[in-house]
This record gives sequence, structure tokens and C-alpha cells, in this order.
Amino acid sequence: MNYLKFNEIKFLNVDLNCICNAACPGCARQRGYIYKNYNTPNGKYLQTNTWKKIIDELKYTLQKIVLCGNYGDAVASPNIIELINYAFSTCKDLQTFQIDSNMGLKNVEFWKELGSLSKQYGHKLKLHASIDGLEDTNHIYRRFVVWEKVCENLKAYNLAGGNSTWKMIQFTWNKHQEEKVQSFAKEIGCKVFEFTKNNNNDSDFFYNSYIDNKNNWNNRKHFNSLSDIDSSIIKESQCKEYKLKIKEKIKGDDIFCLTKKDKGIHLNWDGKIWPCCWYGGAYYNGNKVISESVKYETDYKYGDNWNNVQHHSIENILESDFYKKDLHNNQITDPSIMCMEVCSKCDDKWISIHTRAQY
Ligand code: SF4
Ligand code: SF4
Repeated sequence: MNYLKFNEIKFLNVDLNCICNAACPGCARQRGYIYKNYNTPNGKYLQTNTWKKIIDELKYTLQKIVLCGNYGDAVASPNIIELINYAFSTCKDLQTFQIDSNMGLKNVEFWKELGSLSKQYGHKLKLHASIDGLEDTNHIYRRFVVWEKVCENLKAYNLAGGNSTWKMIQFTWNKHQEEKVQSFAKEIGCKVFEFTKNNNNDSDFFYNSYIDNKNNWNNRKHFNSLSDIDSSIIKESQCKEYKLKIKEKIKGDDIFCLTKKDKGIHLNWDGKIWPCCWYGGAYYNGNKVISESVKYETDYKYGDNWNNVQHHSIENILESDFYKKDLHNNQITDPSIMCMEVCSKCDDKWISIHTRAQY
């Protein structure tokens, strides 16, 4: 079974860079939740010429772009304004250009400019501000994000006419604040407030880590000094074993591919095109068995650049054996690693995680 044909692509999900001011415990930038994942190429971002190539290729079909990163906050890219303008001036059917941010990056001048752009593009440029509480709680999950900056940046964006949604993840430590946050979001000009259920089983662990490390919670150097590069060599046999273990746990054999349904592909800052954010996120995962499992099924089989738009057209990438055969062909007997790990758990929890990640 094919993934999607080139002319079916309507939705581009993008991990624009590997740069972030924060260190959220559930993020792929972390290893062991609170330690830095040194396996990521920090500081990299998608180059303008690569973006232009992709947008030019998709300009007749693209309707939606979402910048919701696995490894970085989109606004950290120095060329983000240029990328936005190029997409709107090139894709005539573009209905939504969504940017997710923790709001702690850059200054009010930048956010004013972004707010004005949102207004200029008829509010098709939308901001999802990921703020999980108030001054006394946001930093528990959004580690290292400075509250004052969040408030001044969001106000500047809204005052300039920007379209924004305040997205708050519900945790045990912030759920009592729902009404207060909603009212504050309205007061500072957010159009929508969303309170999303937290589906992460590890949130108790996050909170306990916070309590245990309260005195150092804002001390990045402390956590970085306890982190290290994982230089272990993972053999293919270990990956196969890992896959077998997942297979034993999955609930059903049916893989329901939400990004295929939504006509989407995922772009990483390095130019690689994956079917979804789960693949893009796995590639540099702090758990090396996961990242190597993906590589054994892709790069080690087809070469480093098989899915890189700097080397191939998107059309050719979607015609590759991975997309035409490996990805969805053997869903029952031998599903590809991420499809099995993520999408064969056909229950509400996983569907809602998908929904959170993609929209
Ligand atoms: S703000 Fe986003 S990219 Fe940055 S650490 Fe948190 S989840 Fe990761
Ligand atoms: S992991 Fe899920 S969303 Fe991604 S390609 Fe596989 S089935 Fe589709």
C-alpha cells in the first residue's frame, strides 16, 4: 500500500530547527526526561533555499503548514519571517500557517512584527502559545522559560493584531488554575484558550523530579553537567528484539495512519522528508535503540540522503521503496517501527496525542 502520491499532499508539518530555550521533561531534546539529549545537532536550522525548494514543489496543493517541533521552537530560526513570507506569496491555496512556541524566545520587536504579519495575512498565520499555567506553575513543565518574557511577547503579538491561541496542558499541578489562566489569556488578547488533557503517563515523574531538584530547577548548567553523549553502538539484533517486544504489547493489528488521512508529510530541519512527526522525532531520539531502529529500516538500507529534499524531489522521495513498500505494506506481519510503536495502539489516548502533535 502506498503512502501518499505527491499531488495529494496538502499538509506540511515542520520541525524547523534544533534550537530551544526550554527543556520540557517530555521533549525529545531531553534524555531521561530532565537531562540534555546530546545526540541532537543543537543549533541547526532549516536553510531558506531548502524551504524555497519545498514550497515551490508543493505550491499547487499545499493548504496547511504547521511548525510544531520535536527538537526546537520554530521562532528560534533566524530566517522565520522570510520563510513565512515566501510560503504566503507562493502557495495560493494556503489556509493556515501555524506556529507553536513557548513564547520565551526573542523580544517584543520580533513578536510585534509577527503579530502584524498575522494581521496582514488575514489571520491565516496563527500562533499556538504553549503556556502551561501561570507565573508559579508554567516553569514546572516549561523549564527555563522566563515568565516575564512570555507575558510581554504574547501581549506584543496580540496588540499588533496577531491571531493567537493559548494552549495549556493539564497537569496535576496546574489544573486548579484553569479559570484564572483562561481569564488572563482573554485579558491579554488571545482569541482562543485550549486546556488539553495530558496523556503522558510520566507526568508524576516530572513533578517528582521538580520537587527533588527544586533548588536547581532553573540551573541549566547543573543538568547539562549530569548529561552525556551516548556513544553506545546499537546492533540490528537489539533493534529487532525491541520491535518484537513492542509487537507483543500492541492492542490491535490495524494501523490507522492519521497523517495519511490528513494528506500530510513531515519535514525536518536537515531537509529529510518523513511521513509524520513521529518518524522525524525518532531519528535523533535520546533512546538510541529507537533512533537506530528507524535508521536500520531507512538510512542504513537506502543511504543517508534517500529522503533529503536537497538531493531529491519530494515526488521522487514519495516514489521510493520506503514510501511505496516498507512503510505500510506489511502492516500485519511486519509493520515499520514507528507505525507499530505509535499508531497500532488504536485507542483514544494515542489518537489524542496525535491530535495534539499535529494541530
Ligand atoms: S518548548 Fe518545545 S522544543 Fe522546546 S523543550 Fe519544550 S517541547 Fe521541546
Ligand atoms: S507512525 Fe503513524 S502517522 Fe506515522 S506513518 Fe506510521 S501510521 Fe502514519
